Amino acid sequence: PTERVLSVQLVPFDSTRKLILSRDITQLERVQTVHRDFVANVSHELRTPLTVIGGFVETLVDMESPSPEVLRQFLPLMMEQARRMQSLVEDLLTLSRLENGGGTQTDRVDMDELLRVLLVEAQGLSQGRHEVVLEQQSDRWLWGSVNELHSAFGNLVSNAIRYTPAGGAVTLRWQFDGNRAVFSVTDSGIGIAREHLPRLTERFYRVDRGRSRNSGGTGLGLAIVKHVLARHHARLEVSSELEKGSTFSVSFPRERVAEPDAVTP
Ligand code: ADP
Repeated sequence: PTERVLSVQLVPFDSTRKLILSRDITQLERVQTVHRDFVANVSHELRTPLTVIGGFVETLVDMESPSPEVLRQFLPLMMEQARRMQSLVEDLLTLSRLENGGGTQTDRVDMDELLRVLLVEAQGLSQGRHEVVLEQQSDRWLWGSVNELHSAFGNLVSNAIRYTPAGGAVTLRWQFDGNRAVFSVTDSGIGIAREHLPRLTERFYRVDRGRSRNSGGTGLGLAIVKHVLARHHARLEVSSELEKGSTFSVSFPRERVAEPDAVTP
């Protein structure tokens, strides 16, 4: 949109004259709109599980002394909604830390260790429903924040599992070609239509709302990934084909690549 928003003010200049002050507030308006949308989204995301929990509690209260079977049926559903709110609040806190926080600390990140943890986490999420593979083709480490990288890579891995039907495959890859180090996750899942790709890292952007929520997504995962990568001067590339699967790759510039035995950046 090229329309500009101007704020015009008349201020007294001297006893007879006035001054017209005009300010271009287009950018300010845009920021305020994004902020309003964000607050509306967060409220909506929290309201849904709260309404569900409230509904169950009301039913239980009306029953006075609900039977154990009824409790066994209701309580797990309520817990699931509570967990959903918990993940959302955790993701919101992570995002706000990333947005407000200072510089990223630079540890020497042991990629052997991180890949091993990611593999175990992927297997845990999959619960045997997917073939999960690690292809480690590089022994290099990274300079960066281990917590932030864990959270970014972890989001890519959990998306791959969540958007891949049972029986599919998820591959984690770690490569270094002399110029860039690349961490990538390839899945054989539902894929993403081309028109959605540019917007994936927007907060709460989802290709399919219902599907994403049912799979346990908060809608903030890729927004977190984007922030972490920016702080590490890394790039995200996505290639995807509907019904075939997707590859999310994160590439780090040479300066971020560490020798496993280096002691200073
Ligand atoms: P969510 O919590 O909804 O998964 P994300 O920010 O992690 O939020 O991802 C945004 C959207 O991108 C998802 O809702 C989903 O539609 C799409 N998406 C992300 N990763 C994948 C993937 N591996 N395969 C298919 N779609 C994906």
